[in-house]
Amino acid sequence: MDLKPLIRNIRDFPKPGIVFRDVTTLLRDHKGLSYVIDQFSLQYANQNIDYVVAIESRGFILGSPLAYHIGAGFIPVRKPGKLPADVHVVEYELEYGTDSLEIHRDALKPGSKVLIVDDLIATGGTAAATAKLLQELECELLGFAFIIELVELAGRSKLPDVPVCSIVQY
Ligand code: AMP
Repeated sequence: MDLKPLIRNIRDFPKPGIVFRDVTTLLRDHKGLSYVIDQFSLQYANQNIDYVVAIESRGFILGSPLAYHIGAGFIPVRKPGKLPADVHVVEYELEYGTDSLEIHRDALKPGSKVLIVDDLIATGGTAAATAKLLQELECELLGFAFIIELVELAGRSKLPDVPVCSIVQY
């Protein structure tokens, strides 16, 4: 299935020079949404994944049905100050300055098999930071799943050496 016609491209959002790949138009299409979850499931079914770790906020939309589909639990990685219990924090570089992500310290046990999900990989900074959080928790990272990959930014070169699934490339 060709997903590009379902993805809306918005120029100069959130700032000049960026083409925002808007997946709300894909998510509202029931065939498009099922196709995405089915593709991720095909890639990662039968690997005994314990948890789908999803990145706030569009990762949550995909991570939950995927976890249900492959028989895994769901764990959120959130922006600072949102998770109520004790957290592990990772800082990562942005174009200007830094940002951080958090996960509950007791979210998973060492050795858990996990998959990281988000809607899009651009520079790879967000996904690499999430992988670092999981490494600190001594998890076994089995792969990444994205709907969209911005290939020219070479984000996957920042990620650990595990399978990286993307369905649409720009
Ligand atoms: P990065 O850390 O550079 O790989 O950026 C990935 C995160 O930023 C993901 O959570 C995306 O949702 C968001 N993002 C980055 N670039 C875009 C874009 N061009 N269109 C939509 N979302 C983007």
